[in-house]
Amino acid sequence: MRYILCEDVEVELPPDWDTIVGEARQHVIDKTTAARDAAAAEGATPEAAEVVAMKALHKAVAQKASVWGKAAPALMRASDEKCWYCEKRQVRSDNPIDHFRPKGRVHGAPDHPGYWWRAFDWKNFRLSCTYCNSRRRDVETGRVGGKQDFFPVLEPPPRQGAEGDPDDRPRLLDPLVDADTKMITYLANGYPAPVDENPASEARARVLCSIDLYHLDQAALVRERKQLAIDIRSFVEAGQQADQAGDAVGRQNAKTELIKRVRRKAELSSAARIFLGAYKQFPWVQEIFDRDL
Ligand SMILES: [Zn+2]
Repeated sequence: MRYILCEDVEVELPPDWDTIVGEARQHVIDKTTAARDAAAAEGATPEAAEVVAMKALHKAVAQKASVWGKAAPALMRASDEKCWYCEKRQVRSDNPIDHFRPKGRVHGAPDHPGYWWRAFDWKNFRLSCTYCNSRRRDVETGRVGGKQDFFPVLEPPPRQGAEGDPDDRPRLLDPLVDADTKMITYLANGYPAPVDENPASEARARVLCSIDLYHLDQAALVRERKQLAIDIRSFVEAGQQADQAGDAVGRQNAKTELIKRVRRKAELSSAARIFLGAYKQFPWVQEIFDRDL
């Protein structure tokens, strides 16, 4: 998982973003009001009319799905086209936007209407690959992962279902929160793990929940990280041998290969940095971290 600066997304949004969102919100208000009024005119009780209105609201939000599609290029540029959760490159997904707070419903909270008031809020958008965002069974492990409508919260405070800025604290790690992205690490065997080893810690619980729901331990992904750790170890060894032999060209070649793997635009670069960080005692490796990549 990699930290994404909000500003990097905002600066890339379409110039007429506020107009796009304003029109979508008006569409939702109009449809909801019309449905409520029609139900009332037919003699529905206020409660029944409200149920009809909420249905119309969710339908109207779905009709404006093109809104978050228009924000997708901005989210992609902010992360070098990598999924914000797993850091695999995402250039061909047809629906790469995850609503961090689910817009239509919340899994396990049947009374929650979904965070519909955040449906067009770009700060609620996360660039996500299909594996991280959709419920899928890993063919190798049989385990089902994927965030979808899941949004477990930390208690207290209680979950709020009414419109307004919710005070709920997400259990899932958020790529837009720097501290969250530092709670997770990657082991040389390719598996993700909590940095905090205290079994009672909230941070550890959040990481485990995130690994589960973002499916960060999917077998193919784990294998890819493990291969990355092996490659990095090999290049460090080659660089060290060249260094000791006074072979400046050989050392530079190894260094270049390592830079290609840890620079921000590289797939899985957060894991690569952690793997390479184990070799910082070598000055030429430390030099890589001193650069702006
Ligand atoms: Zn992903």
